[in-house]
Amino acid sequence: MTLKNRIALVTGAGRGIGMAIAENLAKAGAHVICVSRSENSCKSTADSINESGGTASWHAVDVSDGPAVADLAKSILGEHGKVDILVNNAGITRDGLILRMSSESWHDVMNTNLSSCYYWVKHLAHPMARQRWGRIVNITSVSGLMGNAGQANYASSKAGMIGLTKSLAKEFASRQITVNAVAPGFIETDMTSGLDEKTRDLILKNIPLRKLGQPSDIAHVVDFICSEKAGYITGQVFTVDGGMVM
Ligand code: NAP
Repeated sequence: MTLKNRIALVTGAGRGIGMAIAENLAKAGAHVICVSRSENSCKSTADSINESGGTASWHAVDVSDGPAVADLAKSILGEHGKVDILVNNAGITRDGLILRMSSESWHDVMNTNLSSCYYWVKHLAHPMARQRWGRIVNITSVSGLMGNAGQANYASSKAGMIGLTKSLAKEFASRQITVNAVAPGFIETDMTSGLDEKTRDLILKNIPLRKLGQPSDIAHVVDFICSEKAGYITGQVFTVDGGMVM
């Protein structure tokens, strides 16, 4: 129980990668605040953690809504006094070629994936800085490292998260807050469940390990980054993609 007495907040904890991260952090002893857009999804993750002997609570909020995040962060700090671990995982895709991409698709993706990280860090980092301990983990993507046709909005938001990670790592280093990113490749979740067989085969050809990853593959890396053992690692991007980007 290496994270006993730690409070962790995981966005997008209702499904997929975020759910696996929330479950793992709870197994490591942290109290996990599960956040997602819809009430039923974050509640169901929190219920399942509480039923299996961990402790969790839940809040439904749209992470792209700055004032709503500010209000929720204030109320969470009022209740818990601090958040030690922040995992910015909530994310969406609105794929399309740039010439046909609506301004709405561009801004929805940027606000949900990137601006949300700014809102959470801005409102939660003070107590971390005061106590001289904190972990911030941003879930980016290999698209942010390589670019991807049809994903200009998504890849830009994910590349932005990497710039944010490295800048915050430098800003917060003197306060012993580490800031790192994890870049998943193709992971089996609702986000990738819509791929047709042809696309899936094409993707597999480019993955040396010849399989898609599981949410737990990402959650294990996040566990390590959030542990005491990773206290000397900051400003890094951990690619977890079956060897796709080398
Ligand atoms: P997912 O299965 O689609 O789940 C996304 C989660 O984010 C859901 O819990 C959803 O809430 C939440 N969310 C989305 N928009 C939100 C908003 N505006 N406010 C609050 N919560 C919001 O996604 P995933 O595949 O687990 O992906 C998780 C993260 O990993 C994302 O940032 C994604 O970009 C990144 N990633 C995924 C892959 C992959 O292959 N799956 C690869 C690279 C990177 P609800 O449950 O309420 O809808």
